[in-house]
Amino acid sequence: MGKTYWEVFKEKGISRREFLKFASYITGLMGLAPSMVPKVVHALETKERVPVIWIHGLECSGPSEAFIRSAAPYASDLLLNVISAEIDDILQASAGVYYEENGKIVYKGYLKHEEDALNKYRGKYIMVVEGSIPLGNDGKYCIVGGKPFKEEVLKVAEGAAAIVAVGSCATWGGIPKARPNPTQSVGVMDFLPNKVVINVSGCPPIPEVITGTILHLALFGPMPLDEMGRPKQFFGNRIHDTCYRRPFFNAGQFVEKPDDDAAKKGWCLYKIGCRGPTTYNSCGNMRWFGGISYPIQSGAPCIGCAEPDFWDKDPFFQRLQNIPLPNVETTADKVGAIAAGVTAGALAVHAVAAGIRHFNKKDDEH
Ligand code: SF4
Repeated sequence: MGKTYWEVFKEKGISRREFLKFASYITGLMGLAPSMVPKVVHALETKERVPVIWIHGLECSGPSEAFIRSAAPYASDLLLNVISAEIDDILQASAGVYYEENGKIVYKGYLKHEEDALNKYRGKYIMVVEGSIPLGNDGKYCIVGGKPFKEEVLKVAEGAAAIVAVGSCATWGGIPKARPNPTQSVGVMDFLPNKVVINVSGCPPIPEVITGTILHLALFGPMPLDEMGRPKQFFGNRIHDTCYRRPFFNAGQFVEKPDDDAAKKGWCLYKIGCRGPTTYNSCGNMRWFGGISYPIQSGAPCIGCAEPDFWDKDPFFQRLQNIPLPNVETTADKVGAIAAGVTAGALAVHAVAAGIRHFNKKDDEH
């Protein structure tokens, strides 16, 4: 029988107090209410660590780059204490070990370990896929361990307890699938139409959303998903719904050019192409790098990277059409013209106060 999370923590000399703090933190990370902390503690005390087999197809490794920068729990903690990362062809030290034998290239180490892990944990492991699956030219555009990646996906999926696709390439096909899709790339859910695939989209996804999803699966099993297969606790709101610039949108105060005065004042980026009103993700509340910032906070309009085919939709930085303004029967242009002079002062004060509160809070946390 494998070790429980608590047993592993004890072995590593982690105190009960630290363990309880950790349980409390990951409860929030999984998008659960504070009242769930006792259940999380109980799960950590009684459940065996779940093995994770993480494979990579056609991609830029952005999700892994994001994951290893996960602020808390740090990726190293997560890998070594919380999940049992049996295979990850990018992070594991043994990847790429091979030698030539009788004129053939024979892969050793990685594939042997993978075979052992697939057999040992059959029906128990979480399969994580990063990258799209090229089907063109019989899959030869992405070769892993000497075989087309599509074969690797089929092999690992067969014995998986759950399948998670991370990043735009694994979820929707990503940039490799961009028109005209010369490699005929597809995402995991299109490749495995008869399996339930949990989609953690984003280019790359928010690191804490990746860890929160894997943790939830490991401790409590599947979570409610939206119609696109994304965990609702992370993809239940539009970025527009949690955006701190939303009061400016409501008041019709818009940036017209990336470097105008309105941009310097931090007004809404809708008119320079922000796709926050049509993009579902947690950027507005979780933010990136431990809550430091996200694209909109840095002055760049959202490009909708968590949505399917965002790369092939309307050109970036062009205003979305037909986005209604709340409780206002007019267009963004008219509201902007009327409201700009009237409400600028009040909202600027509000925004500054909110900003100070936010940064003070960050300072306190720091
Ligand atoms: S349009 Fe973009 S910048 Fe404006 S409130 Fe919505 S998400 Fe924020």
